[in-house]
Amino acid sequence: MAERMRAMEFRAVGEPLSSVERPLPSPGPGELLLKVSACAVCRTDLHIVDGDIVGPRPVVPGHEVVGRVIAVGGDVTGFAVGNRVGVPWLGGTCRTCPYCMSGAENLCDFPTFTGFSRDGGFATHMVADARYCFAIPDAYDDHQAAPLLCAGLIGFRSYRMAGDAPRLGLYGFGAAAHILAQIAVGDGRQVFAFTRPGDSAGQDFARRLGCAWAGASGETPPELLDAAIIFAPVGALVPEALRRVRKGGRVVCAGIHMSDIPGFPYADLWEERQIMSVANLTRADGIAFMDAVARRPVKVSTTPFPLDQVNEALAAVRAGTIEGAAVLVP
Ligand SMILES: [Zn+2]
Ligand SMILES: [Zn+2]
Repeated sequence: MAERMRAMEFRAVGEPLSSVERPLPSPGPGELLLKVSACAVCRTDLHIVDGDIVGPRPVVPGHEVVGRVIAVGGDVTGFAVGNRVGVPWLGGTCRTCPYCMSGAENLCDFPTFTGFSRDGGFATHMVADARYCFAIPDAYDDHQAAPLLCAGLIGFRSYRMAGDAPRLGLYGFGAAAHILAQIAVGDGRQVFAFTRPGDSAGQDFARRLGCAWAGASGETPPELLDAAIIFAPVGALVPEALRRVRKGGRVVCAGIHMSDIPGFPYADLWEERQIMSVANLTRADGIAFMDAVARRPVKVSTTPFPLDQVNEALAAVRAGTIEGAAVLVP
């Protein structure tokens, strides 16, 4: 076992992540020490490095981690040395607050988040609480599996929150939408993909994945939508999407941060239209999602970056130039 590890550390807004070497940590009770094999880059990582959401620093970002267990702490059940595991954004919960007690651990009052309030997977190794890790379906290699851990999983929670929506709109066609579109199409839904204006490559990508229609975010789709999910961090898309949903339709905001939502006429919300947000994940979401993508595999598009090119990977996610997900490979 290597004695030391390397991690890409976030110290201050405006500074690139910097490579640091550290002694290899020992897993505490209930924890796993993982050798990271892939970690996808999420838009939330941009919100962290931009200071849109603020946690302790320095911290090693990365919450879509696939790794192999190389050591286990005491009292670990369910995983053993050699297992492949996935580490998601939800890194721990208090297990005693009203939310934890009622099956809404995604809203825990005292949560721990991977790569935000504890060190994550932009590293060669990391430690994770075994109780919040997932087994990953064999159909996916390590690179393909990484984006499942947040893009896939949060997309899936948003999809379930959108309800029974035969005509589903997706605003922002990045890592999350490209996975969710395949699941929704597989469920027999019509998917309408909205990209940034002028992103014809993104629109072609959406059509190739089975979307019934793809266009720019300001365009009128050919049919009224039953629900829309907004993955782009753009508040102006909320009233935009609201105008595209039918009476009783729902707009689901899937991101952790958004620019301010501009004012809009009450008439656009009238007739029982709804706006809601989706926060984090529960372990039950993760298990249901992994089961869904095991039974009906999706094609995950990835662009690999070496770990030391983390800043380039973040820039690519920001620019939206990647088809699917950026994945760091140590
Ligand atoms: Zn994420
Ligand atoms: Zn709690």
